[in-house]
Amino acid sequence: MSDPVLSRSPVATAGLPSGGGFCRAAALIGEARRAAALAYAPYSHYQVGAALLTASGEVFTGCNVENASYGLTLCAERVAVFKAVSQGNTDFVALAIAGGSATAPAAPCGACRQVLAEFGKPDMSVWFAGLANGPITTTTLAELLPHSFALSPEK
Ligand SMILES: [Zn+2]
Repeated sequence: MSDPVLSRSPVATAGLPSGGGFCRAAALIGEARRAAALAYAPYSHYQVGAALLTASGEVFTGCNVENASYGLTLCAERVAVFKAVSQGNTDFVALAIAGGSATAPAAPCGACRQVLAEFGKPDMSVWFAGLANGPITTTTLAELLPHSFALSPEK
C-alpha cells in the first residue's frame, strides 16, 4: 500500500523505502534520530530527537535544548511542534521520538503530551524508539493522554 503522505515529504523519504505504516514509522524515527544529534544537552547528556509529520507531508524536527537553569529546558517534541506551528502548520498526523536506550526508549513527557493534544487528533500516531536502535513502540495520542485538558468540551 503506498503512502501518499510520506511520498510528498522529500525529507522523510530520502533513501528510505516508501510503503505502509511500518515504513513510515521507520522513516520518521530515522529523522528523529538524526535530529537528536543536534541536541543541546550538556547537563544531562540525554539526547532526544523528534520528527513531526504534518497532513501536508512536511516533516518538522526538533531536539531537546537544555538550559543552565534546568527549568527552562525544552523537550525535542515541543521544539518540533513550535517550529511547525510558527510556520503555519497545525495539522499533525504523526510524531516520532528517538531517545534513551533500545530497552528504555524515551516516551513523551506529560507536558509534551498536553501540547500535542492542542493540535493532534486522538488517533494521531506516536512512535518512539531508542536513540540508536531498538524496536519502535507504536501508540496514539489518545492512549498517551486520556482525558486531556481542553477549554472547549467539543474538541
Ligand atoms: Zn517533553
